[in-house]
Amino acid sequence: MNCKKVYLYDDNCSLNLNPVKEFIERTFKIPVIIKRIKAVVVVKGLALDFIATKKSIKEDPDAYAIIITVRLFGTFDNIDRRMHLRSAFFSYPSVISLSGVVEAPAKPREYYLAKESLAGSGFWELEEAQLKQKLKGRFIDYEDKRLIEVVKGLAAQAMFFYLTGEPFCRAKKCRLYNAHWQEELIYSQVKNRKFCARHSKMVGKLLLA
Ligand SMILES: [Zn+2]
Repeated sequence: MNCKKVYLYDDNCSLNLNPVKEFIERTFKIPVIIKRIKAVVVVKGLALDFIATKKSIKEDPDAYAIIITVRLFGTFDNIDRRMHLRSAFFSYPSVISLSGVVEAPAKPREYYLAKESLAGSGFWELEEAQLKQKLKGRFIDYEDKRLIEVVKGLAAQAMFFYLTGEPFCRAKKCRLYNAHWQEELIYSQVKNRKFCARHSKMVGKLLLA
């Protein structure tokens, strides 16, 4: 693998990305350079325009690029023919969305049930703040301190995609778990924050390769 460095593009992030840089360097033993950049992630409506996004960053054959953006985006699923919000899109480069971490994995069911029952009543705004307070531990919100841990895990998935072609793991006790629910995301990235035994071993082997 010809990866000599990783560019971590900070696309209008309010988050300090240094902990993500240190995490990748410590885990994968590859130097990381943070680059600030503005509005490189291109969307059409909500759909990620990957070609335009890719074009807006400089290509470097010796480096991998991960863009971390505040912008929310989705991708179209050909099977159910719907747009799905995404927390990350793995490719060359990979794109991680902070808003996507908040909006893409599903919140606890109580949240949607309350939203549905109060839709159109005018009470939802009031109720939402209270409900968010009540369910605080069970989903990641904007400006959440746990967001940085989740970004580390998604960056690890991007690195695995780049190095092995496979970003995900089936084990919930793994940073590479592809969480569809906020509670699963919090479990694998915040509470557990480790790789499973198989992927811990793989990280060691990748470093020797
Ligand atoms: Zn694993």
